[in-house]
Amino acid sequence: MSFLKGLRCRECGRDYPKEALYVCEYCFGSLEAAYDYDGIREVLTRDKILKGPKSLWRYRELLPIDGEPKAGFYSGYTPLVKADILGKELGVTNLYIKDDSVCHPTCSFKDRVVAVALSRAKELGFDTVACASTGNLANSVAANGAWAGFNRYIFIPANLEQAKIIGTLVYSPTLVAVNGNYDDVNRLCSEIASKYRWGFVNINLRAYYAEGSKTVGFEMAEQLGWRAPDHVIAPAASGSLITKIWKALKEFDKLGLLEKPMKTKVYCAQALGCSPISTAILEKSEVIKPVKPSTIAKSLAIGNPADGYYAKDVIAQSGGAAATVTDDEIREGIKLLARTEGIFTETAGGVTVACAKKLIEQGIIPKNEVIVLTITGNGLKTQEAIQDAVGKPALIEPSLASFEERVMSGRKTAPAAPAPSTIV
Ligand SMILES: *Cc1c(COP(=O)(O)O)cnc(C)c1O
Ligand SMILES: [Zn+2]
Repeated sequence: MSFLKGLRCRECGRDYPKEALYVCEYCFGSLEAAYDYDGIREVLTRDKILKGPKSLWRYRELLPIDGEPKAGFYSGYTPLVKADILGKELGVTNLYIKDDSVCHPTCSFKDRVVAVALSRAKELGFDTVACASTGNLANSVAANGAWAGFNRYIFIPANLEQAKIIGTLVYSPTLVAVNGNYDDVNRLCSEIASKYRWGFVNINLRAYYAEGSKTVGFEMAEQLGWRAPDHVIAPAASGSLITKIWKALKEFDKLGLLEKPMKTKVYCAQALGCSPISTAILEKSEVIKPVKPSTIAKSLAIGNPADGYYAKDVIAQSGGAAATVTDDEIREGIKLLARTEGIFTETAGGVTVACAKKLIEQGIIPKNEVIVLTITGNGLKTQEAIQDAVGKPALIEPSLASFEERVMSGRKTAPAAPAPSTIV
């Protein structure tokens, strides 16, 4: 049973058939999936979700496919961790980490959007999928596309982290490294997409792809006991994730799945070296000025964000705010999360943690409400960003004497361990 009615222009509201279309012929607005919410309301209950698969497909009715899912059976359903140790350090009482860096085939939230895009690509009859990527999408299309039996063409900026390149090549796609930044890659891909009949997950399948990000928001609410968080901080590259977390919480609210009306404020986290959305919000500017990215947060390095205006609107409508952080602050953010919660996130997660710290210190996020940090990727993929910031192991000879001399000398007994955090 399908609740996907079609696609609709986000600007002028014109309706389009549910094909591989992404831009309105009349106003050039982007297209978005439109659903039969009355139909969904009749079948979708908390109980049905609770009995569903332990993957993002437990929210299948609210995802843009017609038939059964065809990819991504191991994506989604990631932990929500009550982060009491980090919370104490930041001076807040109700802090959670939505940890999308684990329990995913390629260790980032991109496995959600790709699950949906590839399922829809099958339904639309594509045998080849492609993408323009800042790294994590490349990993995810390469891996999930292999499992689902697609030919894969993947385009990346040539200067990506080693682990993101190797973590793509290992799945044997055609990987094309472009001498240019992501915005150059994306422009090239739009041209290729108009010539070849391929399913570009974030271009001609973008209306479907983007809906996969809603499942981050659905899970947050479900895991909090059918409550929307008071504050959600999320990183932005194209700005899509931010808009979809908000959309997800509004959909749950509209469908009567929440305990209380949703009043979530959403906050945009970006690196200072590529902060077109956060800067527009901070400067109260109507326009989002494209920038040339220069930051260690390469997964977020989109200088001309496709969903920038929608992300900015969500922040404004929700009453949220934005922050930017330097590369040093990003490294500190990565180390802070690792030291307090035992979670090793990539640079994008460092941006989120560091921006959250700033927003809390500035008093913009209050101390006693429910705060969720969206941790979107795994630190093992961006090790070069922090290799000079984590110190070195203590090197000793294989003897007790050497251990005591070089490690234990002058050391007092260890302080009492803090109480561990719990998984919700
Ligand atoms: C792609 C990505 C994002 C942001 O995605 P958008 O929806 O384009 O804003 C955030 N974090 C990580 C790790 C990513 O790979
Ligand atoms: Zn339009």
